[in-house]
Amino acid sequence: MRALRLVRPGQPIELHDVPVPDVGPRDVLVRVHAAGICHSDAHYRAGRSPAHPLPLVLGHEVAGIVERVGDAVTLVRPGDRVCLHYLIACADCYHCSRGSEQFCRTGSMIGHFRDGGWAEYIAVPERNAVRLPDAIPFEHGAVLMCSSATSLHALRKGRITGGESVAVFGVGGLGMSAVQLAQALGALDVFAVDLDDAKLALAESFGAIAVHAGREDAVEAIRRHTGGRGVDVALELIGLPLTMRQAVQALAVQGRAVVAGLADRPLELDTYRDLLGKEAELIGANDHLLQELPLLLELARRRALDLGPVVARTVPLDADAVNGVLDELDRFGAPARTVIVP
Ligand SMILES: [Zn+2]
Ligand SMILES: [Zn+2]
Repeated sequence: MRALRLVRPGQPIELHDVPVPDVGPRDVLVRVHAAGICHSDAHYRAGRSPAHPLPLVLGHEVAGIVERVGDAVTLVRPGDRVCLHYLIACADCYHCSRGSEQFCRTGSMIGHFRDGGWAEYIAVPERNAVRLPDAIPFEHGAVLMCSSATSLHALRKGRITGGESVAVFGVGGLGMSAVQLAQALGALDVFAVDLDDAKLALAESFGAIAVHAGREDAVEAIRRHTGGRGVDVALELIGLPLTMRQAVQALAVQGRAVVAGLADRPLELDTYRDLLGKEAELIGANDHLLQELPLLLELARRRALDLGPVVARTVPLDADAVNGVLDELDRFGAPARTVIVP
């Protein structure tokens, strides 16, 4: 089969002819119909975040049709539409048994530490193949498995409840899902904070109140819109100490700030004023859980989460096309999401 592989960090992805993966008794072989190109993939190609063992088929946002199943598989059948939970976990260790499989001691991520979905086929354990409703296109199913799922997990870590207000710092791939999911989970006011007019306009079309952080102070704007109260939940999806601090400062009494953006610098906080003074919480969110995917897919099926305007482009399983998209991601110039359709 054809597969796009990372051979050496810092070098372009290459198209190789490789064997169709073996299928163990509890595995399913999936014919890939859509595989997202994520900002993480640009980090893997550049070597900023190591991927191994090399050469490795990248691609962790995958949807397709079950082609073949192992003898012991009971959950899915050939012909089923599925999307793939990218964390392969043991289901039995201390963390898995407590429902936190993202900390599984033997866990592995497809397209990062084992072959992914930038190929014609991929094999995964059956529990990772989640049924994809007919109403959701493969391209959307693929993207749901990464940024949307991480946004849902971050909102759940923030313990959002009906009637609360939410601020989303950074309305790129994650944020555009977060704006919609927050409302689906009952948020009344959702603020979208960004510097990009086009992204803010799109977030507004999804019902958010736009705050342009280059033209006004984001914390002041949020306080003004909330009668001085602040928001109950703030998500930081950018990865900058400045916006992390703003997310905490924008909180109401007993508000929760959830950090899901990756920063390479430490965060300084006035803990008296910004945390204990109002019993605020600062929470980290890491990946997402298999158990969160059924709700996510149901919200997408009902169009409470619409990825239509977010999944902007498709490209074939072609090294030049995919390297071009990764180049754009490296320059932060990619228009929304691009999905490979093999
Ligand atoms: Zn991703
Ligand atoms: Zn485990």
